[in-house]
Amino acid sequence: DTHVDDKTFTKYESEVRSYCRNWPAIFDTAQGAWLTDVDGNKYLDFFAGAGALNYGHNDPDLKEALLRHLVRDGITHGLDMSTVAKGEFLQTFHDRILAPRNLDYKVQFPGPTGTNAVESALKLARKVTGRESIVSFTNAFHGMTLGSLSVTGNATKRAGAGVPLVHSTPMPFDDYFDGAVEDFGWFTRVLDDHGSGLNRPAAVIVETIQGEGGVNVARAEWLSALAELCQSREILLIVDDVQMGCGRTGEFFSFEIADIKPDIVTLSKSISGYGLPMALTLLKPEHDVWNPGEHNGTFRGNNPAFVTATTALNKYWSDDLLTRDVHRKGAIISETFAGLSEKYEGVTHRGRGMVQGLVFDEPELAGKVCALAYEDRLLAETSGPSDEVVKLLPPLTIDEDDLQRGLDILSKAVAAVAT
Ligand code: PMP
Repeated sequence: DTHVDDKTFTKYESEVRSYCRNWPAIFDTAQGAWLTDVDGNKYLDFFAGAGALNYGHNDPDLKEALLRHLVRDGITHGLDMSTVAKGEFLQTFHDRILAPRNLDYKVQFPGPTGTNAVESALKLARKVTGRESIVSFTNAFHGMTLGSLSVTGNATKRAGAGVPLVHSTPMPFDDYFDGAVEDFGWFTRVLDDHGSGLNRPAAVIVETIQGEGGVNVARAEWLSALAELCQSREILLIVDDVQMGCGRTGEFFSFEIADIKPDIVTLSKSISGYGLPMALTLLKPEHDVWNPGEHNGTFRGNNPAFVTATTALNKYWSDDLLTRDVHRKGAIISETFAGLSEKYEGVTHRGRGMVQGLVFDEPELAGKVCALAYEDRLLAETSGPSDEVVKLLPPLTIDEDDLQRGLDILSKAVAAVAT
């Protein structure tokens, strides 16, 4: 029995800063794609911790591994120590992820969350190149600390800092001009022109699909052209795979479809597999110019997270089953979204794998759809600069009946608001 009820939250509402406004339920337990509230109501999760729960809630094998670790008094906090859990993770990550993809990266534990990985990537790029500025893209989202906020596109979020941020140059993301700019010719010209006023940047940071920015999908050709440009001008390419990595788009790394090898890769969210804080920065060995202690932090490398991460890699990435699953279920979502786009005016869709967005010409309709879906106990969030996109991020492991059930709820909500 729980002692927490609505009154508890009403009482503390004025005292805490939280943002549970969209979903007033008090959630208590969860399994797979389902959450249960204190009154026993069940909710289907198409949000999955903003991509932190790719394998669902409380995966039984991950839970068992975690419990085993705790029961045998395994190291929980092991800062600056070699531990069994860390060693097993590093070996598994190498064997299951890096080696089969022919990727040669050193692994850094930059801190507990995605923004820590981005900060370390930006700092490293500046240190390696001796240059300062960073190029990022329109509608990019990279985190909430000053460096990562500097390369975040959304002006509302940047304004929160109240002061000018670290210098960055915005560049139009793929299809920003609806097909009008198809390559980087203009940027290369400006870059090579000493009179243009542009300082050669240390790095370009990019999401292959902008999650918070509204499910904007970069084409593989655009990504490889970007990688080529960076390589030819000795600018480091950072792929921020915090939200799109760990299988969300089908492949483990979202950039695999473009056949590129970024200089730096950031991972977080689903890397622990269990919703535990964990982040990785992957760097090419020749770029390892860090001095000891130069990027430190108390909660880098959380051992219980290493345990669940290792188990998740062994369970889900020893074959291509999950990849095939994601492509199949992704196709089911995009078929449903294509049907809705065809049926209703002012509705379009975009996405890849199991990150799909339903885009509304009238932004407020996206919020209404999520509110109606919540009444039918489906959790889905909006994204995009005007919150005009209903963004679907179900657990990759959701079963097809549940996926269909959620899509039916969503279709019903769209039918109620769209014409
Ligand atoms: N990069 C991307 C692409 C993200 O989507 C996010 C989180 N939404 C972050 C960085 C920041 O991660 P965190 O919230 O864990 O700091």
